[in-house]
Amino acid sequence: MKRILILGSTGSIGVNTLKVLKELKDKYTIEALTVNSNIDLLEKQIHEYLPNYAVVVDEQKAKELQQRIGNKCRILSGEEGLVEATKNGNYDILLSALVGFAGLRPTIESIKRGKRIALANKETLVVAGELIVDLCKQYGAELIPVDSEHSAIFQCLVGEDKSYIQKLILTASGGPFLHKSKDDLKNVNLEEALDHPNWKMGNKITIDSATMMNKGLEVIEAHWLFGLNKENIDVVIHPQSIIHSFVEFIDGSIKAQLSVPDMKLPIQYALSYPDRFNNEFTHTNLPKLAELTFYEPDYNKFECLKLAYDVMEEGGISPCILNAANEVAVSKFLQGNIKFLQIPETINKALLKFENHKHPDLETIYETDRKTREYLESTF
Ligand code: NDP
Ligand code: MG
Repeated sequence: MKRILILGSTGSIGVNTLKVLKELKDKYTIEALTVNSNIDLLEKQIHEYLPNYAVVVDEQKAKELQQRIGNKCRILSGEEGLVEATKNGNYDILLSALVGFAGLRPTIESIKRGKRIALANKETLVVAGELIVDLCKQYGAELIPVDSEHSAIFQCLVGEDKSYIQKLILTASGGPFLHKSKDDLKNVNLEEALDHPNWKMGNKITIDSATMMNKGLEVIEAHWLFGLNKENIDVVIHPQSIIHSFVEFIDGSIKAQLSVPDMKLPIQYALSYPDRFNNEFTHTNLPKLAELTFYEPDYNKFECLKLAYDVMEEGGISPCILNAANEVAVSKFLQGNIKFLQIPETINKALLKFENHKHPDLETIYETDRKTREYLESTF
């Protein structure tokens, strides 16, 4: 029996993880569930999945939930609660599915204990990739991607020598605005941006998909996970989201991983690797797929994708600035305070404001994240 700690159990990935675990009760038990503030859903999850304890970051909500459920389950609170769970909890696998920079600290605590990290929280690798890779080596932690593109690449690489990789090719659906012109993007609204054609996800990543920042963050994620540079990581638009990514080898052979778009598969694989388990998910019916198409991305229209490539090349603290600025801008867009094209504008503004530092330590990363947010808040 393996014990799982889920960070972000009420999110889209968290809920899918619980669906996966429901069918694998003979193999996994749940150590703890953590959320930010959604105690109504957490309460239901506690009754159904019986974790040993839970964490609610919002202190008030934590108290409220503890009163509601009495001694059925211990509720920890605050960011310290997340750190306490990851640092001292009794678990084997961390499913890291918080959204945003908030995932960094608890994920690091878990790495320091040499755990398997099933990583959905891509922002952790974007802001602190170099440090995370070093810590994983130092503490013997295993980083297994949950993100579907990286899971696809990881699966293509099983049994392969990494020195034979020519190129990673990440697929991108292109999001809801694939067929709009840059001019059209000036006036798109929130509802249109949240209407993703293939995936049902949390709001932040859905907006990231509409700007294609999501693919940009994934390019940086791939850089750290697989150790390749800008010239060897390509993006191709594939609107059907059936091929989740490709690996091209030096002899010209290309491998791909295919399946209908459903995050339960990469989540299960991150838990089961190197094994595979039978399941009841919808399997792919090839004759039913009318066509699979591919296009070059438009870097002029999707400026966020270009910015992500640029900061990856620069390295240092720039990806942390880009991430913080993107989180601020997306949150403003979700609140209706800025327009869609102000998202890349905001990121550019932050990148111009701060100088780059090579090889930042953790302190510098926290400081830069905070300073970038403060600066941008003061400019709106
Ligand atoms: P959601 O917004 O659906 O869920 C986020 C989860 O994190 C919720 O449980 C939320 O709790 C919790 N949370 C949010 N903010 C904080 C915080 N400051 N401190 C502690 N907990 C917090 O996100 P997704 O599930 O869509 O995405 C999670 C991560 O996985 C992201 O990094 C995303 O990029 C990545 N990912 C997601 C995919 C998807 O299909 N959704 C695919 C690939 C990667 P509460 O409900 O209380 O707010
Ligand atoms: Mg993805």
